[in-house]
Amino acid sequence: DPIGTMPTVRTTCPYCGVGCGILATPDGAGGATVAGDPGHPSNVGRLCSKGAALGETLGLATRLLHPVVDGARTSWSTALDAVATRLTDVIARHGRESVAFYLSGQLLTEDYYVANKLAKGFIGTPHVDTNSRLCMASSVAGHRRSFGADVVPGSYEDLEQADLVVLVGSNAAWCHPVLFQRIAAARRSRGTRVIAIDPRRTATAEEADAHLAVAPGQDTVLFAHLLTQIADSAVLDRAFVAAHTTGFDETLARAREIAPSLAATAARTGLAESEVRDFVRAWCATERVVTVWSQGVNQSAQGTDKVTSIVACHLATGRIGRPGMGPLSFTGQPNAMGGREVGGLANMLAAHMGFSAVEVDRVRRFWTAPAMVTGEGLKAVDLFDAVADGRIRALWVMGTNPAVSLPRADAVRDALGRLDLLVVSDNVASNDTLSAGIGAAGIHIRLPAAAWGEKDGTVTNSERRISRQRPFLRLAGEAKPDWWILSRVAERLGHGVAFAWTSPAAIFREHAALSGFENDGARAFDISGLDDLDDAGYDALAPVQWPVRRGTRDGTARLFGDGGFVTADRRARFVPAAAPGLASAASPRFPLRLNTGRVRDQWHTMTRTGLSPRLGAHRPEPFVEVHPDDIARCGLRDGGFARAETAHGSAVLRVVATEIVRPGEIFAPIHWTAETSSYGRVGPLVQGATDPHSGQPEAKATPATLVPV
Ligand code: SF4
Repeated sequence: DPIGTMPTVRTTCPYCGVGCGILATPDGAGGATVAGDPGHPSNVGRLCSKGAALGETLGLATRLLHPVVDGARTSWSTALDAVATRLTDVIARHGRESVAFYLSGQLLTEDYYVANKLAKGFIGTPHVDTNSRLCMASSVAGHRRSFGADVVPGSYEDLEQADLVVLVGSNAAWCHPVLFQRIAAARRSRGTRVIAIDPRRTATAEEADAHLAVAPGQDTVLFAHLLTQIADSAVLDRAFVAAHTTGFDETLARAREIAPSLAATAARTGLAESEVRDFVRAWCATERVVTVWSQGVNQSAQGTDKVTSIVACHLATGRIGRPGMGPLSFTGQPNAMGGREVGGLANMLAAHMGFSAVEVDRVRRFWTAPAMVTGEGLKAVDLFDAVADGRIRALWVMGTNPAVSLPRADAVRDALGRLDLLVVSDNVASNDTLSAGIGAAGIHIRLPAAAWGEKDGTVTNSERRISRQRPFLRLAGEAKPDWWILSRVAERLGHGVAFAWTSPAAIFREHAALSGFENDGARAFDISGLDDLDDAGYDALAPVQWPVRRGTRDGTARLFGDGGFVTADRRARFVPAAAPGLASAASPRFPLRLNTGRVRDQWHTMTRTGLSPRLGAHRPEPFVEVHPDDIARCGLRDGGFARAETAHGSAVLRVVATEIVRPGEIFAPIHWTAETSSYGRVGPLVQGATDPHSGQPEAKATPATLVPV
């Protein structure tokens, strides 16, 4: 077994959607040193603090190392039999659609593909959703609405070729640090200007040339105003709009209603007229402009409208798909996009297909599926409501911790205890989701999954770049790859032929072949040029941006520069926005607005970054940022404790007085769990209101109050 003693391996960081290439050199004793891969185009050798500390997080102290059924250690054979038998029993008693899967942007594309094929084609349940719903679903919906498919038109190199980068709801300096380093390099080399639009004065806003502290929920007003100013100026690209789009006049008319004047725009966004005017001038005067957005846009009950209002300004100016210009969504997780590609979202089928009769039939024939689903499944928030009310009786959670990360997390935790069957595949021995089931009436199975360093497959980052994640450590204990676990359960359910893969390379070839199956070029996601890779070719696969059409191994840096969108008529869509606003109004009982997000050196629920003392030193405990005006108003003390309360739950947090947040707004990080802190779990505070198009919950503006403790 050469793994564990092999020389340096090229792989990919398991954290954020930048998808940095990493050189990992195992030490032969279960550890490894890591460095940025100078040969990976997405980071060109750079790493952030989290990536650089990966070598400190490879210990086995917290790992789940063997299968557990109903609290007792058991063999793989017994555990897999138990999963299959109990799934069969639940289906017999409650029907196929009583089964659901909740997946993760941490899964590799091959794992994701197998889970979707099993659920949507062979078990026959459409209820497959993923924590990407909390992360990027509004971008997906915005892309599909505007372009006809979930396509990021540009590349990271556009950041270095732009003269203006606008970051909307993106604290890239902390959350996508290597891309912020690339923007900083452009500032030095070509004087690129940076404008940050964010209610909070983040590290990104501090670094920017201008910071627009827009009022929560009002981003669409600002971009509606920008569209009206574009329309009234010479930068409107009438030829592009006429030749390649539809809906411009209606969308412009709506924009004039939303933002009827400079004064109205300033009043609604909470900005000074001069700030709005300077922003519009800079955007209109700069052809090479990239508008970036991230969770501040996506995690909103109007996230889809925000995305399409940003995209509209690029379509109106024809500034899309050409060097140094275009809309660019920064994906949260390492494989949020790969999951989207294989149908990880409840409203999509594999290879970016939807649920039209033609598409359903195409996938059914390709898979020879005996129980093909015909419609969309439940999106994350609705899915856990269905767990709570008993419509879902069996749930398989893979690589995520919904008892911490979902809105109304206490209700989610309680709902998990009502399941007839909870299967959790993870690489940690305990977390809040596992604990939620133990001791309750349900039946619970824990399956040890391979971790980063052991996994073998591919991920897709925010610029559509597919990269290999290669193993450099032996599988810990009895851990197995997720695709293997799923396939062995599929065999036991009687579907052995369709799940007979013996390697991730074979799964990738099938995934690539499906992307090209009956694809005449109308479907943007096409990697059929890679469906004949042999095992050695897969192992050596260099990072490549899709589409990779049949007959080539070359990727595609940009799309749509000359029109050619992927709607039925090949035109992009302008879409009128709904009246901008927040899902829930503040009230005398809950006068503050709770914004949640990340800190620089932690990732999600800290299962890996929490193992590095160096990373833990940055922000060692849960906290809430409060403006000094609100400190006084609520009777709080800087450095003391406060209990944050919302209509959904409460959490005790250390008070940090700061003018980073605006009066009336508070911010708390998401990372701490019941496992890591007895007091700072913020998921229970967050409301469950969702975007009507994307189903993504509004996690940035829950009405709240603070009480001294
Ligand atoms: Fe990893 Fe993201 Fe940091 Fe790159 S920027 S090293 S992908 S966490």
